[in-house]
Amino acid sequence: MSVKQQIKSLRAPFYKILYPNKQKFTCPICLYTGPFKDKKRRLNAKCPKCGENERARLQYIVIKQFFDSYENIDAQILHIARERALQKYFQSKFKNYTSADKFRTNVDIPFPDASFDIVFASHILLYPFDDIKAISEMRRILKPNGIAIIPMPVFAEKTVDDYSGNARWTHMSGLDYYNRYRQFFPKVDLYSSKMFPEHYQLYIWDSQKDNPLAVDDVRREELVPVCYVSTES
Ligand SMILES: [Zn+2]
Repeated sequence: MSVKQQIKSLRAPFYKILYPNKQKFTCPICLYTGPFKDKKRRLNAKCPKCGENERARLQYIVIKQFFDSYENIDAQILHIARERALQKYFQSKFKNYTSADKFRTNVDIPFPDASFDIVFASHILLYPFDDIKAISEMRRILKPNGIAIIPMPVFAEKTVDDYSGNARWTHMSGLDYYNRYRQFFPKVDLYSSKMFPEHYQLYIWDSQKDNPLAVDDVRREELVPVCYVSTES
């Protein structure tokens, strides 16, 4: 936790007092229980104590499922983009932790073939024009029994690619985006918000208060894909 986040986290108890009637949730990362904060249109998105959002919470729960029963794991893990909560977790579990900055345009990964057991890279494929090359690079640096965990936000049913260079994201990923992984990985398992307890609030909960036609706010599932180099693993 950064100093800024530590100071912010002191406000969490006050958040409970300020919003006694707001629905309560539990954060799987810092174990805070109480109301979560809205993040603009995204309702109940952010934990007021550790500051992590619904997407990070889902990733954290999936990751923990895999590694929690192990200690001092003798494997090489590459973490691209370094989310705070996950970095701390990976460093506590793995003997060999390597981090790398996310790529925007240059998608070459500066590591030899088959040098990692696990690659974790969240939301980085939004930006590069050649996202397929980036996926193939992640595959290239993995060992024969390796796994890649490559979550992307779910914006809609279908992915929209915009190569104009004017869009904030080149790939607005939809539920179908994960099919792009299947040309490099023979097995892709998808872990959804729906698979875990409601009280962790792992959905993108979109406020419809500006939409006069909407009856209810919309909740969309998020997905964490786990991609296997070999079907044997
Ligand atoms: Zn938290």
